Amino acid sequence: MIRAILVREGIIELEDTPLPEPAPGEVLIRVKTAMTCGTDLKAYLRGHKLIPMPGPFGHEYAGEVVAVGDDVNNFKIGDEVMGVHSAPCMSCDYCNREAFNLCETIMNTKVLGSYAEFLLLPAHIVDLNLYHKPAYITFEEAALLEPLSCVVHPYRGMGLEKAQNALVIGSGAIGLMHSAFLKSHGLKVVVMDMNRERLGVARKMGIDFTVGPEEIDDISRKVCGGLGFDIVVECTGQVSVWESAVGYVRRGGTVLLFGGCPSGSKVTYLTNRLHYDELTIKGSFHYTPDDVRYARELIVGRKLNLLPLVTGSFGLHDIKKVFRLLSEGKGIKYAILPDSTLE
Ligand SMILES: [Zn+2]
Ligand SMILES: [Zn+2]
Repeated sequence: MIRAILVREGIIELEDTPLPEPAPGEVLIRVKTAMTCGTDLKAYLRGHKLIPMPGPFGHEYAGEVVAVGDDVNNFKIGDEVMGVHSAPCMSCDYCNREAFNLCETIMNTKVLGSYAEFLLLPAHIVDLNLYHKPAYITFEEAALLEPLSCVVHPYRGMGLEKAQNALVIGSGAIGLMHSAFLKSHGLKVVVMDMNRERLGVARKMGIDFTVGPEEIDDISRKVCGGLGFDIVVECTGQVSVWESAVGYVRRGGTVLLFGGCPSGSKVTYLTNRLHYDELTIKGSFHYTPDDVRYARELIVGRKLNLLPLVTGSFGLHDIKKVFRLLSEGKGIKYAILPDSTLE
């Protein structure tokens, strides 16, 4: 089978490797769609501590089962499936506290390599985080399950039903998914970005207000009546934006810091703003099996209009070109179709 290897920063190669055979509990799928992701782009540009190089590349997928190991009861050859690339161990100290996203081994036991003709899914993922894909859902829609699981995670228990408005800073794939999710909960959503092209995609997705940084004060007054936003979601991963995000939230509001900054970076906040204005500053990492189940419900129920954020489709042999486009800031998310002859 052919698969992509991230050799080192900026270098992707295709290699021919023997088709793996599923051990007990494992499932081998033919990848029908693999999605590019901001994390993959980071790894391609500057390396990523959770993506070993050289190593198999890509982690968002949907596909069709082509072989199953012994003791696999839920899936059979020919089933169309959607899943994520990790699952918690269910026995470490964090899993015992039901903080499954923080599981001590979740990142060590994940599977990479969805930019490939086939992908072998380990037993713990098959058990917890692999689902059937209904026939009416396209592989493209289904392959958005992993990033959407990340996006829904921080809202669990946040009391979203009481919020009226939100500001999302950054309109890359993740910012657009947050926007669509918040809008589906009835919030008035403002998306802020300097990139006009991306804001155009946000409009296509039906987001209420799309603004550049110079318009934010006006729009904030219009939408929030001078209070500031109930929720501010940072999706750029820039230290300066992590800091400025706090300036847009109302007293008692929540700032969700979602975009990962370079490791070792630090931020500074006014203590009075946090203390007297009773702000909640919230980080977010990965997802739990419940988040995956919920994200799947949203996709299967077609609750969100996400497809506009997929810029285009390419075959596996165009993977280098796709990452060149992404590194030039062209497009948002691309669908890789390994079994297609698309050029
Ligand atoms: Zn991803
Ligand atoms: Zn665990």
